[in-house]
Amino acid sequence: MQNEYDVAIIGGGMVGSALACALGGSRLRVAVVEKFPADASWSAESVDLRVSAITRASQHIFEALGAWQGMAERRISPYTDMEVWDAMGGASIHFDAAEVGQPYLGHIIENRVIQLALWERLESIDNVTRIFPAGLESFEVDGEGVDLLLDNGERLRSKLIVGADGANSKVLEIAGSSVGGWMYDQHALVATVRTEHSHLNTAWQRFLPEGPLAFLPISDGRASIVWSCRPERAEALAELDEASFCKALGEDIDHRLGQITAVEGRGVYPLRLRHVDHYVHPRVALVGDAAHSIHPLAGQGVNIGLLDAASLAEVVLQGVEQRRDIGEVALLRRYERWRKGQNLLMMGSMDAFKRSFGSQQAPIRLARNLGLAIADRITPLKSAIMRRAMGLGGDLPKLAQPPRY
Ligand SMILES: Cc1cc2nc3c(=O)[nH]c(=O)nc-3n(C[C@H](O)[C@H](O)[C@H](O)COP(=O)(O)OP(=O)(O)OC[C@H]3O[C@@H](n4cnc5c(N)ncnc54)[C@H](O)[C@@H]3O)c2cc1C
Repeated sequence: MQNEYDVAIIGGGMVGSALACALGGSRLRVAVVEKFPADASWSAESVDLRVSAITRASQHIFEALGAWQGMAERRISPYTDMEVWDAMGGASIHFDAAEVGQPYLGHIIENRVIQLALWERLESIDNVTRIFPAGLESFEVDGEGVDLLLDNGERLRSKLIVGADGANSKVLEIAGSSVGGWMYDQHALVATVRTEHSHLNTAWQRFLPEGPLAFLPISDGRASIVWSCRPERAEALAELDEASFCKALGEDIDHRLGQITAVEGRGVYPLRLRHVDHYVHPRVALVGDAAHSIHPLAGQGVNIGLLDAASLAEVVLQGVEQRRDIGEVALLRRYERWRKGQNLLMMGSMDAFKRSFGSQQAPIRLARNLGLAIADRITPLKSAIMRRAMGLGGDLPKLAQPPRY
């Protein structure tokens, strides 16, 4: 019957589109509902203000889904090294992909490039219907399925509804899951900049008393910055004239890349930590930022969201093979058990990291400087940190595992 689906995914952003691709080719009928579909009307010259540091695990997912090529044809920026240092105390750590026998640590990719490549991939998948522009208005769950009402008046029926609708998730709101977390006293200012010296395909991150400042390398020589600082400073920096902005930025990055010669566009995002108590309810599952938001300091937010998507797809497809009802909460709990612990671990470590680097108390400053110095010298410890940050550790879903040739 028309408008009858097995899975209705709300949100065709990076995580929702990846989930839909992962369910592609199965016998499930899948709908993806998206309010603001990806569009391709940007000039190749411009760099999206929102970029993501994509781990090797996420790259494996995109490759397996057939979307990596669409990203590579637009712009992907591999980075081979990462330099992290503390403004208070001077300790530093350098990560080099060669130390773990890899060609690079990951890629910086514009969010719009990721979203568009996945969205385009969906066009050629027969069992997936893209419904756009349309937003979820409400839904009701009964014993057999879910009735959905969209804001264009359309009604859908499905066995499972998935909230991939980001941090202000409507699915989460209607499902009534409680959410824990807090606002950080930081906003992230993002911008694209040009620098006097080459970024050397290195991601640079300096921990300042107010928060971390990251320079992420773009393949054409520009850098995308994420400057986390007190909300009032972020707002003031966003309003500064170009020369004063470049001067302040150059000072905060310790002039490692020489002078900042130009800035293109600026945006400010409040930062918060959020985690829902339950990823699943009868006939409802949450993935990506709908389930959790994390500080961007280690660039893990969308990466853990993509692992959610790949894991949920694996669980649902196992359910299909076993002829189970895919909306059954006992089946969906496999997904929750798989992802919740790993996400909490990642969120907890990032939060501890953020707090440790935010502290100016002498003992904590000393401990973190010692910690950085030790980690930089002990090769097995450093390799373990790198492998984890590259997404190569942990209990990975099949799609995220390195391909076997
Ligand atoms: C400054 C900053 C830097 C970051 N850097 C990194 C990084 O380097 N690496 C990294 O891994 N992560 C990073 N993140 C985090 C990352 O951006 C998020 O984790 C990611 O965007 C989450 O993707 P998502 O698809 O779950 O949600 P979203 O990107 O929020 O997408 C949700 C989608 O749902 C749609 N939608 C919403 N409501 C509805 C509705 N009612 N009906 C239909 N559609 C709806 C929206 O239009 C949107 O397309 C960063 C975050 C910030 C703030």
